[in-house]
Amino acid sequence: MSLLVVGSVAFDALETPFGKRDRTLGGAATYFSVAASFFTHVNLVGVVGEDFTKQDESVFQGRHIDISGLEHAPGKTFFWAGRYGQDPNERVTLATELNVFANFNPKLPPHFRESQHVFLANIHPNLQFSVLDQMKGRPLLVGLDTMNYWIESAPAELRKILRRTQVLMINDAETRMLSNEHNLLRAARHIFSLGPRTLIIKRGEHGAMMVDSKGIFMVPGFPLEEVHDPTGAGDSFAGGFMGYLSGAKTMSDAVLRRAMVYGSVMGSFTVERFGLERLRKVKRREIDARARHFAKLTKFQL
Ligand code: AMP
Repeated sequence: MSLLVVGSVAFDALETPFGKRDRTLGGAATYFSVAASFFTHVNLVGVVGEDFTKQDESVFQGRHIDISGLEHAPGKTFFWAGRYGQDPNERVTLATELNVFANFNPKLPPHFRESQHVFLANIHPNLQFSVLDQMKGRPLLVGLDTMNYWIESAPAELRKILRRTQVLMINDAETRMLSNEHNLLRAARHIFSLGPRTLIIKRGEHGAMMVDSKGIFMVPGFPLEEVHDPTGAGDSFAGGFMGYLSGAKTMSDAVLRRAMVYGSVMGSFTVERFGLERLRKVKRREIDARARHFAKLTKFQL
């Protein structure tokens, strides 16, 4: 099975109580692909500028990631800067420089068009739509992320792509904004009427909640003494989740629940260090050990 992702590949400037980085590799599609590649074959679609070197590209090498859909365009790579205080769930965006991302028009290489699973990371809903339009036939599963900016500025376009989405992965504030409902269960019901049949609400260090017709499943955030940099946690979660589903081939309730755990595991590795510093060094046995730890964390008897 293969998993197609479209989204940002970026340079980030990061500031947290544990330090700072002026320019480190980031971007939603980068975190997603590295996390997902532990479980399945990833087809990456994105764009970078002339400042993106072979060394930057090496993050994708030696993994199951096909970067033939990573376009090199004249200009500079997308740049994002953010700062976090003591609360890792609260961040301030200091800069968003679209650069080559401003004229990005995703083009799928022919061999990407039959990917069975698709993840549309946080970009303009029209670009997300154009990716689905280039697919040959209907993928088995489409997952989607979005943000407050698109909910406010492109509501009609977002609704159009939501109709073709099965799994929506957003945070609690976005869930409330999209549904106009404060209560998350009522919000989920509203979101199901827009298209998705599964809603995953990402709650940062508090973990994530999955709501679908079978009920609710919650996974905690892995307890860590120090969270050095929360950037990319959501995308790594999505990568672990979608990657596991893609690798598992079937989609029973048990598989979905395990995918939630692997999502949380991948997010927890990312936040241990800045940028991709930790995620790119993780070994499969560490991932499985942490998943077993989750099973212990949540086990109880009645
Ligand atoms: P996350 O912390 O999982 O929400 O994702 C952080 C990553 O998203 C960073 O590495 C940024 O480069 C990237 N990012 C931030 N803002 C945007 C945006 N407007 N569009 C696409 N990617 C973004």
